[in-house]
Amino acid sequence: MTYTSAVSGIYGDILRECVACRAEKIRYWRQKKFHYTQSASHEEFLIYRCESCGTGFLNRPPHVKWLQSIYQYSGQALTQPITIEDVLARESEFPNCTVDAERMAQQANQFNYSDNRRALDIGSGFGFYTRALKKSGYQTVSINPGEYENEVFRKLNGDEPIPVMFEDFEQSEPFGVVLMSQVLEHLLEPNRAIRKVSDLLATGGVLACAVPNYNSFLVKLLGTKDNACLWVPEHVNYFTEKGLTALVEQNGLRVVKMEQITRVPFNALSKRLRLHGRPAVAVDALVKLLQIPFAGLMNFFGLGIYINLYAVKK
Ligand SMILES: [Zn+2]
Repeated sequence: MTYTSAVSGIYGDILRECVACRAEKIRYWRQKKFHYTQSASHEEFLIYRCESCGTGFLNRPPHVKWLQSIYQYSGQALTQPITIEDVLARESEFPNCTVDAERMAQQANQFNYSDNRRALDIGSGFGFYTRALKKSGYQTVSINPGEYENEVFRKLNGDEPIPVMFEDFEQSEPFGVVLMSQVLEHLLEPNRAIRKVSDLLATGGVLACAVPNYNSFLVKLLGTKDNACLWVPEHVNYFTEKGLTALVEQNGLRVVKMEQITRVPFNALSKRLRLHGRPAVAVDALVKLLQIPFAGLMNFFGLGIYINLYAVKK
């Protein structure tokens, strides 16, 4: 953490074009202040928005060295190691990763028109996506720089992720599936990353990608207050469906499916209202009951929390 503090506050270069569609019409949207640690001084980021595709991004972004110093431990804001028991306990209460991983692996497999059975999991985290890809019959390669997550990954899958950032990953053999769940919003040069993904895919192979939705009801409701999307300095890009489509289609991929995912933890409301005992149980039950039609409505209007995209290499 001392290194993090030492390099925090170092910004990268000023951006002149949209990180997704590369349009030059970009405009200041809002600013966001934050403290990385209790002791660190105040930092401030400006968020810009593309007038063409609506994608947002930090401008100037944090410097790559600053991000690398964070990610060597964790991509999920862990400040200390976590046990596999804790991760699995969290999963059994809110089985998000397992559900998302199996859905994405299965759909990626359906859209993989190549006969290549190798899959690359970029930013493999605790390893749920790699596990799901193995289950769908793939031989997997996983990459993830975070020490804390990789420890859990080893216990879950038995093999070892390559501990590098995607920028530094080198591989010559192609893949039938490339999976990026909650990764692209972290990358300073998403266009360069998608170009690299496209080069790594076999013809007919598929990219399965999940990112937070900048048009989500949470962003509309909470603005720059912390939400699933606007989390700094880790999240540097805030994608829209339009921006994400432009990004992949400029790099030799064709979008075959796009969907939105919204999941509200059933105890989020009772916690926010600081309820306990029977009122908490009642509110939780109500949220459980209402969240399915609510999520359906939000996704239908393009206001869902996450975007899932599948795109095939031409
Ligand atoms: Zn744009």
